[in-house]
Amino acid sequence: MNKLLCIAIATLLLSIASVIPTESSTTVAETTTATETTTETTTEPPRNIMTVTATAYCPCVKCCGKWSDGITASGVKAKANHTIAVDRKVIPLGTHIIYNGKEYVAEDTGGAIKGNKIDIYFDSHEEALEFGRQTIEIEVLS
Ligand SMILES: [Zn+2]
Repeated sequence: MNKLLCIAIATLLLSIASVIPTESSTTVAETTTATETTTETTTEPPRNIMTVTATAYCPCVKCCGKWSDGITASGVKAKANHTIAVDRKVIPLGTHIIYNGKEYVAEDTGGAIKGNKIDIYFDSHEEALEFGRQTIEIEVLS
């Protein structure tokens, strides 16, 4: 093969190559803006739901005998829709609970209130009688 021709072809090829626009490999840096899916770590504290036998009482002699002065074991006056009596070994005095959407406070104790039992305070004996005895679910607040 003619050496000159060979070079000529080579230069020709090179010139062609230089004409062809080198593909602008503008590597589009894919803006993968890692939109962090806000991992909602709003871990609600576990609700302490307790099933208890609920009875009711009022400050009368029938309900409280010699303790019928309306003063609770914790020394404060019992209030309707607020005071409950508890077994302080199960629910310590001062504990707030939710029953039926209402907040009550364990302020009292009672001889018959042992274990998973609560006694709900009412102002009148009629209301206490009406409540009777129920198995209810309460939420014990910390
Ligand atoms: Zn009573």
